[in-house]
Amino acid sequence: MEQTQPHDRQPPTAGSSGSILIGVDLGSHHIRTGAVDQNGKLLDFQREPQQGDTAATSSRAIADQLIAAAGRMIAAHSGVGGIAAIGVALPGLIHHETHRIVNLPNAPGLVGLDLYTEFKNAFGVPIYFENNANAAAFAEMTLGVAKGESDWLYLHIGSGVGAGLVLDGKLRRGKSGFAGEIGHINIDPEGIECPCGSFGCLETVASAPNIVRRTRDRLRKDNTSSLSRLGAVRGFTYDDVIASAKTGDDLAKMMLQRTGFFIGRAVAGVINLLNLSMVAVGGSPAGRAFLVPAIIEETRRRGFPPVRDDCRIVAAELDGEAGVIGAALLAARE
Ligand SMILES: [Zn+2]
Repeated sequence: MEQTQPHDRQPPTAGSSGSILIGVDLGSHHIRTGAVDQNGKLLDFQREPQQGDTAATSSRAIADQLIAAAGRMIAAHSGVGGIAAIGVALPGLIHHETHRIVNLPNAPGLVGLDLYTEFKNAFGVPIYFENNANAAAFAEMTLGVAKGESDWLYLHIGSGVGAGLVLDGKLRRGKSGFAGEIGHINIDPEGIECPCGSFGCLETVASAPNIVRRTRDRLRKDNTSSLSRLGAVRGFTYDDVIASAKTGDDLAKMMLQRTGFFIGRAVAGVINLLNLSMVAVGGSPAGRAFLVPAIIEETRRRGFPPVRDDCRIVAAELDGEAGVIGAALLAARE
């Protein structure tokens, strides 16, 4: 699904004092860590499976694994003395002033821990916690597809659906740091219940688990898809849906297209409100090729013409390293 190698991998280098930034990114199944220079150039990148499940009982294990992963990356890059700051990207809501994790659907037990203080105590360098979509947005605006864009939105389509909003060239977090929750925009009043308590949120159809759920439902009516055979053997994932679409499977292509239409409904509302110049679609790189054309099509159908004609909808440029790079750069700048 994503590259585990950086675009430009180099052997670890001994940094001058305080010049290297460390990024840590908690995904739904993996923890990614990286070392970057002050310009965001990736010097090292590692990805490891998350240990244990994400139930509340294993939150301590996840916290320990995050700290250990950061520690290994620091050790490989000349020790704490050479590290300027550590940024941590998390797939949930981070209160911008208190640095507390307020909501983290994949690992709810982490909400009760003061992970920020644990990082501070463990490493003694500036620590920065950020939402993962915001971190990826910052990486894209620094060295990816959104360089030079002033008003644009980064969309993350993964185990959740999130966004990073940039206005006047600045990442906008709202009052408390919770801006960008496009996944909880209602797109279907008759839709299924969302974990947030509402019904028919974008996330209930466009997150990876919900794309799989909708595809599974559809397979009950149409068993000609290659996913039918896969489903009978071991079940299938969002990556499998994308892989089937790439081989030309009609049902898989249709499911991704319809997902893009749902996302396009929400995007049309957002660009109507904000007159954005760009929407960049992140998440699984292989999935972007299927989602982007459908999002464009639906946005053309539903957006206010002068506004939608002002806005380009494109695939994001960076891969699975975006969260690591963005968190690290934000740690140096905030
Ligand atoms: Zn919701």
